[in-house]
Amino acid sequence: MQEENIKAFNLKTLQEVKKSLVKNGFKCEIFDDLATTKQYIINLIGKNKTVGIGGSQTINMLDIIDDLKNNNNKIITHSPEMDKDTKMEIWKQAQYSDFYLASPQSITLNGEVVFLDAYGNRVSSCIIGPKKVILICGINKITNDLNTAIWRTRNIAAVINNIRLKKPNPCTTTNTCQDCNSPTRICNVLVVLYKKPNYTDYEIILTNFSLGY
Ligand code: SF4
Repeated sequence: MQEENIKAFNLKTLQEVKKSLVKNGFKCEIFDDLATTKQYIINLIGKNKTVGIGGSQTINMLDIIDDLKNNNNKIITHSPEMDKDTKMEIWKQAQYSDFYLASPQSITLNGEVVFLDAYGNRVSSCIIGPKKVILICGINKITNDLNTAIWRTRNIAAVINNIRLKKPNPCTTTNTCQDCNSPTRICNVLVVLYKKPNYTDYEIILTNFSLGY
């Protein structure tokens, strides 16, 4: 019963975010569980498409890649062991895919979409290039305002990613961002979408359950 109360509370928050996102030019849907979210994305992409993915724990947690491949879609994404030139080539190909799947680090109640990248490949593709961008954002990434969103990108999302990637950056010890000058720093490019980029088709999927960092 407690769980239902939390879900009902969170749904109202997501409905407010959806209203703001629509006002900002984005198409938006809300889903209540993982299976329905996955099926919606699988249907949206269909078959025989190219799908760029910018490295995302949200996408990994959705466990959708094999389903997309089974529909004869070509997945374009890098892997950590690739060298710089190979990654750069894949990032360029991903930018011109039919669909680009990613997750921002935060969306505000006012419908601002916030990303923090190490390399900028994901934010580039989320601004211009793909025929359609699909963003997936869990309830855990919703913040009240832009300041809190930016704080979250560095003090929650980035710190957890540093821990996941075993980066020798100070935040893995302190558990908060130290605005480091480390050569392995992963917080280099901050992008805020105040409104939908004019020439990019967009859909934002909000989930009433936690996904990613
Ligand atoms: S700026 Fe440096 S210390 Fe801060 S979260 Fe990023 S990697 Fe960690």
